[in-house]
Amino acid sequence: MCGVFGAFSASGNPVLEEVYLGLYALQHRGQESAGVAWIDGENQIRTIKGQGLVHLALNQAELSGIPASSAIGHVRYSTAGGSGLSNVQPLAANYCRGPVAIAHNGNISNASGVRRYLENRGAIFQSTTDTEVILHLMAHQPHKTELDALVDSLRKLKGAFSLAVALKDRLVAARDPWGFRPLALGKRDDVYYISSESCALDLVGAEMIRELDPGEILVIDTDGLHSLRIPVEPRRRYLCSFEFVYFARPDSLIAGQSVYQVRKELGRRLARRSPCSGNCATGMPDSGTIAAMGYAEESGLAYEKAIVRNRYSGRTFIEPTQRVRELGVRKKLNPIRELIKGQSLAVVDDSIVRGTTSRKMVELLRNYGASEIHMRISSPPVRFPCYYGIDTPTREELAAARSNEEALCAEIGADSLAYLTETDLVEAIGLPACEVCTACFSGSYMEDGEKYEELDI
Ligand code: SF4
Repeated sequence: MCGVFGAFSASGNPVLEEVYLGLYALQHRGQESAGVAWIDGENQIRTIKGQGLVHLALNQAELSGIPASSAIGHVRYSTAGGSGLSNVQPLAANYCRGPVAIAHNGNISNASGVRRYLENRGAIFQSTTDTEVILHLMAHQPHKTELDALVDSLRKLKGAFSLAVALKDRLVAARDPWGFRPLALGKRDDVYYISSESCALDLVGAEMIRELDPGEILVIDTDGLHSLRIPVEPRRRYLCSFEFVYFARPDSLIAGQSVYQVRKELGRRLARRSPCSGNCATGMPDSGTIAAMGYAEESGLAYEKAIVRNRYSGRTFIEPTQRVRELGVRKKLNPIRELIKGQSLAVVDDSIVRGTTSRKMVELLRNYGASEIHMRISSPPVRFPCYYGIDTPTREELAAARSNEEALCAEIGADSLAYLTETDLVEAIGLPACEVCTACFSGSYMEDGEKYEELDI
């Protein structure tokens, strides 16, 4: 996870407040920290970063008064490295060719190998993030311009990266050759924007022009847009299916598809495949709600918003520790007793990752008098870790990896449990199956066997 946002004004208008707003719209992609970076008139890189939500980490009024016409920003959810302050992005450096700052969404799967290679040649790392290898790779090519060094550095990386990069007089966006994570380009007047999701473009009043192609490097300067390619063998797209299931906001477009409509279709397909005898369907807020509406519509069940989410609480999946996640479930969700008592419920959730939320919710619903609870999951069982930017590092943590469906149903205390199939997921997304990553469901990481090995460069 994580979200990146960038803005560049060709006529020199200040953009930092808009970067703040963009991050605000991307808050769902990371709540641990937020930061912005820009290059000042003295050619020095500047950053403001803090921990917590965007409005706590950054001061909108302060940012609006800074005359930066090009800037990047980041909201963080740690997938590589811890959540300490040194890992808060954008990561920035003034190296021999000039200032550079990087905001990264994804997970560089060969970062450990690259880091070892660089440390053996004298590099001293300041953080434990995978992103920092990009800065060092650039610094190890002092004979090249910043842009050439960046392009060559990206060629050496494996895994997932959607990047916003601030260079002197330029904003650069880049997407890994598989296109795991989304990255969109927008424009309003003379300002170009790059954003992890199109919903943030809406907030700043920008029109979405297009998404970056997998493997594309887009350079934005006062002359306009220049598109380059990461110099590797062309690869097919391998877009993360979980963006549609859970991560992305429903008001975003990814690969030309409305996340909302895909999510609703997941619910419809789930109803066709796994109907249940309940008399009411409800969704686990927020990301199960839309699929629940689709489930109810298709199955003819009444739809009730029977579980209320405290809108001021965060997303449980992206809390970094199990203890906080456990507390998070209770803090954020509460069923409406009057809608639950005596009811046989179809409860639709987007996924079962660790099983914590489902178990707690089933317990709560029973306490509130539900007669039957049929859990319906709008994605296939998550049985494998993700190495492309999602924090599921071990199989032991994944409920569906340690238990089969029947055992997991008993573990969470439900009367029945059913999942969507991988075929239904891919068909609902509407892309060819070979262009959609479903590795956390299937365990098939890459067609060519390239997984997550730590490769030397
Ligand atoms: S493994 Fe799962 S979460 Fe990771 S990129 Fe693939 S589909 Fe997305």
